[in-house]
Amino acid sequence: MIVLENYINSEWVKSSSTETINVVNPANQDVLAKVPYGSSAAIDVTLACDSALKAQKEWSKVPVMKRVQVLYKLKSLFEAHREEIAKIITDESGKTRDESFGEIQRAIENIEVACGTPVLMAGDVIEDIAKGIDEMMIRQPLGVTACITPFNFPSMIVFWFLPYAIATGNAFLVKPSEKVPLTMIKIFNLIHQLDIPNGLISMVHGGKDTVDAILENPIVRAISFVGSTPVAKYIYSKGTANGKRVQAQGGAKNPVIVLPDADIEMSMKIIADSVYGCAGQRCLAASTIVTVDDQKGEVKDALYETAKSRSVGYGWNDGISMGPVITPESKARITDLIELGINEGANLLLDGRNVNISGYEKGNFLSPSILENVRLDKKLINTEIFGPVMSLVSIKTIEEAIAFVNSGKYGNMACLFTSSGASARKFRNEADAGNIGINIGVAAPMAQFPFSGWRDSFFGDLHGQGKHAIEFFTQTKVIIERWPNIWSRKF
Ligand code: NAD
Repeated sequence: MIVLENYINSEWVKSSSTETINVVNPANQDVLAKVPYGSSAAIDVTLACDSALKAQKEWSKVPVMKRVQVLYKLKSLFEAHREEIAKIITDESGKTRDESFGEIQRAIENIEVACGTPVLMAGDVIEDIAKGIDEMMIRQPLGVTACITPFNFPSMIVFWFLPYAIATGNAFLVKPSEKVPLTMIKIFNLIHQLDIPNGLISMVHGGKDTVDAILENPIVRAISFVGSTPVAKYIYSKGTANGKRVQAQGGAKNPVIVLPDADIEMSMKIIADSVYGCAGQRCLAASTIVTVDDQKGEVKDALYETAKSRSVGYGWNDGISMGPVITPESKARITDLIELGINEGANLLLDGRNVNISGYEKGNFLSPSILENVRLDKKLINTEIFGPVMSLVSIKTIEEAIAFVNSGKYGNMACLFTSSGASARKFRNEADAGNIGINIGVAAPMAQFPFSGWRDSFFGDLHGQGKHAIEFFTQTKVIIERWPNIWSRKF
């Protein structure tokens, strides 16, 4: 069985760690590869950072117009290999074919936006701020930067950061999720074809030991993290204590409010796609559906029909609209949470726990579940499920619904379905969440906008994507100059 290698100094090299864990296809438990995982990983982080530092010094002197040329090349490589990357994503993460293509498209869009770095990183100049004195602010790269990513978007999330880091003149180290490292192996084979200094973009595999080595390496100036909230908190506190700039995205529990004036037919399909897309393993998945003013019956019936009609199976097969969840442990955690909801007084309207997919009997499959009358005063309402489970609750007024949104532990996304502009305006102004959707089920910001998130969904200041990423990966330098007007002097 193939043991995956690190990519250091622009070469594929064996990990210093001899410990490995299996990379598994969640649809059938086939072992796809072995990935290094263990305490010796720290040595590899040091090697990667040392070569990255050298490469970055050279790279930062390359004009920005030239630096973005490698992104144009990377975009065409991505496009040429889209199908191969998508197949790997489906095989290691369980996504459907469309979902895999969708996340690659989002990665490409970030490369495209980062191609605008020559404009996006422009500074400011004020001439004659005082007599004969000019002042300017320029942006310079930080040095060596790194990202640590989760399993649920094996390609896209790295690209919230990588293109911006590189275009602004930094070196970049990737620590992919140990559950889905194969997508990055394929992408690094494309990166290998770029004309960049050796060591500029590197990858080291592993788990907590590798992450700790990144957190402790003095060469690393900035860390971008995406994953669960406890790990985000850990990385933010340890990274900042070690003097690094950190942006750490955490977990989520996203509420969706349905007002009585919503277009029920359109809304229910969008909402069900939001809850069950990517088998619910999406930080922007709708989780709690709140009906307002007693129109619960109609919403409930429509959601039930839409949820029941989803076809579950191996994501690359035709007609499949929902794949498996990532691991058997994840499946057990989700079924335990369904049980918790029932024990807390909810009614299991649709039970997706016992599903058997012919030919894929060993897969981690669940079909859509719906819990109704989930208690607002109990634990499940604030617990991230990260699986294909919808919680239905009923609230009397829009004010109470907004208060419910704002009382949540997380603040990643909140959506409203309505045909009233006034209600939409009230919601977008008063709902406390970093990403707001109006008649949108997955309010995922396009690459031009920051991927926001509030409360326990984000630790830091600047987010990934767009201008925020440009700011995150640069430091400002202010220069003030006096140039006496020698031509006005008499010689
Ligand atoms: P995770 O936190 O378990 O792992 C994320 C990364 O952290 C992995 O690379 C992993 O190796 C590393 N890691 C795990 N435990 C660690 C530890 N104790 N110390 C140091 N590093 C550690 O997350 P996951 O299960 O891969 O991903 C799912 C989570 O990610 C969900 O909570 C989801 O909401 C969240 N997520 C958030 C966003 C967002 O934008 N807010 C996007 C995608 C996923």
